[in-house]
Amino acid sequence: MYKNEFEIITNYFAAPNLSFDHEGIDLGIGDDAALIRIPSATNLSISTDVLVEGVHFPINAGAAQIAKRALLVNLSDLAAMAAKPYCFTLGLILPNATENWLCEFSKGLGEIAQEFGISLIGGDLSEGPMAVAIQVHGITPVNKSLRRNGAKIGDQIFVTGSLGEGAIGLLCAGGKSHLGPSFKFMSRPSEKARDYFEKAYFQPTPRVDFALNCRDYISSAIDISDGLIGDLQHLIKASGTGAVIDIEKIPVSNCVDGFLSSENLLRAALFGGDDYELCVSVAPEKCEDFVEVAGRSDTRVTLIGEIIAGDDVEFMSSVEGGIDADGKAYTHFSPERR
Ligand code: ADP
Ligand code: MG
Repeated sequence: MYKNEFEIITNYFAAPNLSFDHEGIDLGIGDDAALIRIPSATNLSISTDVLVEGVHFPINAGAAQIAKRALLVNLSDLAAMAAKPYCFTLGLILPNATENWLCEFSKGLGEIAQEFGISLIGGDLSEGPMAVAIQVHGITPVNKSLRRNGAKIGDQIFVTGSLGEGAIGLLCAGGKSHLGPSFKFMSRPSEKARDYFEKAYFQPTPRVDFALNCRDYISSAIDISDGLIGDLQHLIKASGTGAVIDIEKIPVSNCVDGFLSSENLLRAALFGGDDYELCVSVAPEKCEDFVEVAGRSDTRVTLIGEIIAGDDVEFMSSVEGGIDADGKAYTHFSPERR
């Protein structure tokens, strides 16, 4: 691609803040492949997320924002598996790369790599429409990984953090929400609110520490990338169960001051996506310890429902009516279910 492809790699990717020594990495960037050593009785979790300009981030996004988001959403998949971040590769497709763009991208990526102790071990560069493909590798003692398929009837369903802020942030950043044209602001959010929600979108918090500390209490887990209900549906399908969710318990964002209707606030939380919080199931007898250990990991967890027999997500609410979610309306509320 560029005349100075190797210079780009040396200057921006083999940089010490990104490609750092890590126990078990025998060879990083520079040869035809990297060499890593995996401790015995350990699973290597591997996950890839590709981010395409205009699809997974708005066209006007800054280089550092793109870099951080690309690595953070990948780290969220490791969190969902309760894997400890280890190393990653980076495939970068760029239409044209200015020194400034590459410098900002490398700095942003390095910040996240340092924060999570995950080292860049290789990648590829090509010219083309902008896209970032990251593959993350994490490690977990054998039998300690979390999966989607472990939920049992009676398990309690928890989510971390608050939901819907990613979808609101995408709207603030001028991106196109899959919630459709009715998902819009009633008034213009303040500068402070925009900054807050855009950060929630571009820099979600992968719940890595939470997952590592709480994995012994959790029976199944998924990260919320496509919206709580859609992702919970994946979890219950894998587990062969149903689920019931209490609408009033959903931890919607409390940082919206009047610029979004309460209906859209709830839609963002249930269907919005881009939150990268975790949805987990916990056996009833482990709930107390789970909540205590989650608190010690600085992670708010909220009980939102229960795993039940069935094959779909059911809703309960003391409020009559349904949620208009552009074809994803759920009107089968059953107020007195429990
Ligand atoms: P090859 O031609 O053998 O595929 P490359 O010339 O593409 O090798 O890359 C040279 C070295 O630089 C390899 O170790 C590769 O993993 C690394 N590398 C290339 N692009 C990137 C990138 N975007 N980020 C990190 N490492 C990279
Ligand atoms: Mg190559």
